[in-house]
Formats: sequence, C-alpha cells, structure tokens
Amino acid sequence: MLELMYQKMIARLIQLHAGKGVIDDYTGHWIEAMMSPGKPIPCPSCFRIGKKDSRLEPLPMKGNTALVKCKSCKETFSYEEPIP
Ligand SMILES: [Zn+2]
Repeated sequence: MLELMYQKMIARLIQLHAGKGVIDDYTGHWIEAMMSPGKPIPCPSCFRIGKKDSRLEPLPMKGNTALVKCKSCKETFSYEEPIP
C-alpha cells in the first residue's frame, strides 16, 4: 500500500522540520514517481537536505512489514502493510 509509505515519508519530513514548501515539493516528486515507472521515489532524509535524486529501494518484506532503503544515505524505512 503506497499510501501508507507516503504517509511514513511525510512523517519523516515533518520530524526533520521540513517546511510546507519542502513537503509540497516532495509530494510533487512522489506523484511523478507514481506516474512514471522507473522514476525513483526520493528518500525524505536526503530530500530534506536538497538531495532530490536519491532513490528508495524495496527490501524483502518481514511479515507484514514493508521495508525500503535509501541508496544514498542507507537509512531504512519501514511501514506496516494491513493484514488482508
Ligand atoms: Zn537518503
């Protein structure tokens, strides 16, 4: 569920004290990535410091926890997938 991942990334930006402009910009990149396969989903931590070309890569799921890792800063993000 990408919606959950998006919420997680926005929460991370807020935690990093990103302003509305940065969050809107991130959302723009997110939508673009959703609409064009092959376009990277940027890492919120890298995005926050102006590195907008980072790439989140999916890792194998652990139970119903989905994991993605940033190729640049190696930060890992996890979010729960709802149990079907
Ligand atoms: Zn990163």
